[in-house]
Amino acid sequence: MLNAFIDDMKSRILIVEDEAAIREMLGYSLMKAGYSCEEAADVEQARTLIHAHKPDLILLDWMLPGMSGIDYARRLRNDTDTQGIPIIMLTAKGEEADKIRGLDTGADDYITKPFSTKELLARLRAVLRRYADEAQQGIIEVEGLVLDPETYRVTARNEIIDISPTEFKLLHFFITHPERVFSRVQLLDQVWGQNVYVEERTVDVHIRRLRKTLEPFSFDKFIQTVRSVGYRFSTH
Ligand code: CA
Repeated sequence: MLNAFIDDMKSRILIVEDEAAIREMLGYSLMKAGYSCEEAADVEQARTLIHAHKPDLILLDWMLPGMSGIDYARRLRNDTDTQGIPIIMLTAKGEEADKIRGLDTGADDYITKPFSTKELLARLRAVLRRYADEAQQGIIEVEGLVLDPETYRVTARNEIIDISPTEFKLLHFFITHPERVFSRVQLLDQVWGQNVYVEERTVDVHIRRLRKTLEPFSFDKFIQTVRSVGYRFSTH
């Protein structure tokens, strides 16, 4: 049902790729699959297109002339206008794929060239579905802590909290699954996605950051450590 719903909306995909042959191939495949597409050869063109009309998802190549895809992804995530747009990074095989895993860019998924259209469409659908689910859930409020999945904005007692995309995802996952204990591995799968290789201790780093962000409002107590098991969100 949801699949059909997403397809009916004709999601608008922005392809940012400097190699014309790949860009055109992507555009063709996506249009054939029912998406509406726009193409940019560099960050400059991408900016203009995004400014004119916000896309539903950005396919962003890592190696671009001028500003790299990875730097641009970070900019998009730091800009309140664009931080809610899903990003799938395109990387070349080898070194880049390894490097990219270690970087906290806030990209939603990575796909390594060469890839099949089938694989690309599956990843794209998964990311779009996840965002549609989150948007449907709408604004969440727990004891004065408010999350808006559409804008990635968090407010605590009406004060806007400065929060990174990863911390947002982590908090969003916790708040929508209260009272349940999750292991580090489960949190990695749920928040970072199964295709991303992140070490378990990365979870602890982000938990620490999240607590620090919530501390001024005493909401850090909601993020509880369950010794030798993992973490839980609880208001008790
Ligand atoms: Ca390239």
